[in-house]
Amino acid sequence: MHAHPPLDTQLHERIRQLAKVELHLHLEGSISPETLLDLAKKHQFTIPAKFATPDLVRSHYSRYKDFRDFVNIFILGVNCLKTPEDFYLVMKQLGARLASQNVLYAEVTWTPQFYLLRPCGLDSILRVLNQARREIETELGIRVRWIPDLIRNFPKPAPKVTQWLIQQMRRGDSGIVALGLGGPEYAHPASNFELIFQAARECGLPANPHAGENDGPISVRNTLHCLQPRRIGHGVRASEDPELMALLRTQRTHLEVCLSSNIQLGIYADFEQHPLRTLLDAGCELSLHTDDPVLFQTSLNQEYQYALEYCGMHWNELLQSINAALNASYLDESTKRILQKELSRNSMV
Ligand SMILES: [Zn+2]
Repeated sequence: MHAHPPLDTQLHERIRQLAKVELHLHLEGSISPETLLDLAKKHQFTIPAKFATPDLVRSHYSRYKDFRDFVNIFILGVNCLKTPEDFYLVMKQLGARLASQNVLYAEVTWTPQFYLLRPCGLDSILRVLNQARREIETELGIRVRWIPDLIRNFPKPAPKVTQWLIQQMRRGDSGIVALGLGGPEYAHPASNFELIFQAARECGLPANPHAGENDGPISVRNTLHCLQPRRIGHGVRASEDPELMALLRTQRTHLEVCLSSNIQLGIYADFEQHPLRTLLDAGCELSLHTDDPVLFQTSLNQEYQYALEYCGMHWNELLQSINAALNASYLDESTKRILQKELSRNSMV
């Protein structure tokens, strides 16, 4: 990445005041190094010497050799989440992080299949996550919903996890609003999951897959065709195919763009190479998100500023993108209207 001039502090303050919507955010990528090491100690989990202190952990963040190197660090967080109390703690800390960025609404992804073998069971994990979710809403005024995801290259547990999610949804107030799909795209096409997502959709659980990140337009087309999503995580490599961008525009498929994630995982060399402007010029509907804010050392405030200062996004496009994010969210229409009013104050910032 090129060295950039310091970010404009006045613009930073203006961005900080904006009410925001976060749609692409992984719980496991939001654990602070301090909490990670506390949890490792609590569970007597051996951490490699290169991660012995929070600063050493932090120094490894944002310097990933490749996707696999990143996944290894992501898994470190997963391994530290053992008991319901751990999930509660991490979610409450994420709530505070969202509050500090003036986020009104967040859809948080977590990956149930990592926790299938935890003695506490998935039910108790969801129970404490929902306790944290309700407290975050009461204490901080931030609404949170869940997008649990499946993993492309570990498809075996997918039917069991999906069945469990549908059961939980039927109990009501589960907070579960969509079914995600993550992991490496290449050699793991969305078509492998077509039947599972069809069954989920028929039970009221829409598809919200990652695609067009580490594979190109072919993966986006395959995902659109097989999973029929309203939204795509990333989708940025659709920019390599004008016809595909036109299709996304006419179908109004919403793209969750995560700039720092794309650059730190080597999809693009730097912000100037990022196709955000190409996607906007093609009329694609999109919004900006953080993906794994701790692992990419970023925040929504910073992502907005990178987009404005380095990627050619205009202020009005940013405001429109926040409204578009709310519209593309899985909130019910009456709650959307309440939040629309709050977002309308952004035009005065
Ligand atoms: Zn993601």
